[in-house]
Amino acid sequence: MEALPEPIRGDEGATILGPRNIPLERENPSLLVPPRTDHGTVPNLKYSYAAAHNRVLSGGWAREVTARELPIATELAGVNMRLKPGGIRELHWHKEAEWAYMLAGRARITAVDAEGRNYIADVGTGDIWNFPAGIPHSIQGLEEGCEFLLVFDDGNFSENATFLLTEWLDLTPRDVLAKNFGLPEAVFADLPTDVDHTRYIFNGELPPPLAADAVRAPAGPVPHAYSYRLHAQEPILLAGGTARIVDSSNFPAATTIAAALVEVEPGGLRELHWHPNTDEWQYYIEGQGRMTVFASSGKARTFDYQAGDVGYVPFAMGHYVENTGAEPLRFLEMFRSDRFADISLTQWLALTPPELVRAHLNLDEDAIATFPRDKPVIVR
Ligand code: MN
Ligand code: MN
Repeated sequence: MEALPEPIRGDEGATILGPRNIPLERENPSLLVPPRTDHGTVPNLKYSYAAAHNRVLSGGWAREVTARELPIATELAGVNMRLKPGGIRELHWHKEAEWAYMLAGRARITAVDAEGRNYIADVGTGDIWNFPAGIPHSIQGLEEGCEFLLVFDDGNFSENATFLLTEWLDLTPRDVLAKNFGLPEAVFADLPTDVDHTRYIFNGELPPPLAADAVRAPAGPVPHAYSYRLHAQEPILLAGGTARIVDSSNFPAATTIAAALVEVEPGGLRELHWHPNTDEWQYYIEGQGRMTVFASSGKARTFDYQAGDVGYVPFAMGHYVENTGAEPLRFLEMFRSDRFADISLTQWLALTPPELVRAHLNLDEDAIATFPRDKPVIVR
């Protein structure tokens, strides 16, 4: 039998005598027994979808991690959503841009922009999409259903506060609907009417093949595709893993949300770095990892993450992510920005006069000379 985790570090600490939650303690070894380098008070930088309220409906489910669950996460919010075969995320819009990563399965997405141009496409595992703020859209599960991550460019976003088609029509006088559409009022007799139980995510029939489901817009399609095949992108090959970067430079529809899909091999390390432009919102897809965040003012704290967790790094704070498991660690780094940007500690020091670096760190010349001038990104 595996020994119980105990908050003991060398000759410091002592066993737990009181109530305890052993599975949670096992998932968070760096909180139970922090490395000696941790110091000071740092806000919580972890929340798991497994601890998030789930909204369960006929067509699937949705659970969100927002600033309400993880208060430090003010820049971005995320929703993990499942749609059964034919299941429909109702036609809707919202004030925030929506970026998405398909975790499993396939879906059909639709959208119409302000110039009357439309976008209707099928997306599969590893594809992403981006609907700009205010653009109406839908998502429907195809034959095998699907599950995906949605990311919104406001930490206070809520999936429960989107503008829903059925709710709007239900809250509009029927004579106004008749006048608006130029149809008799009787046409609207069967509208769904319970505003407390809007459709939101509901069962639907599988749509016809994409070619048969196309609607021709007189103004044509949207100028930049709203979806992107991230896994078709040739990854950046690195010593300890791979990275794929997607932002407005290669996916022009995503003007407010940038991302990196990072895979770290066992024993590998996403190097010490920081982001010079904005906070980082992370989603762990598989494997397990450890991150220490350096918060300045003598503060640093270490967290452990596993598949289904959200991590967060406030603006400019230094950090690394180490694969602590036996399997590849795969996670998304997300930013409220039109571009991905990071500063590598190693590259910074390599491109600085060596005697200046030596004066700070007491490293010998030979050690400093080994620092690569290209960003390592992921080492092993
Ligand atoms: Mn949406
Ligand atoms: Mn980072």
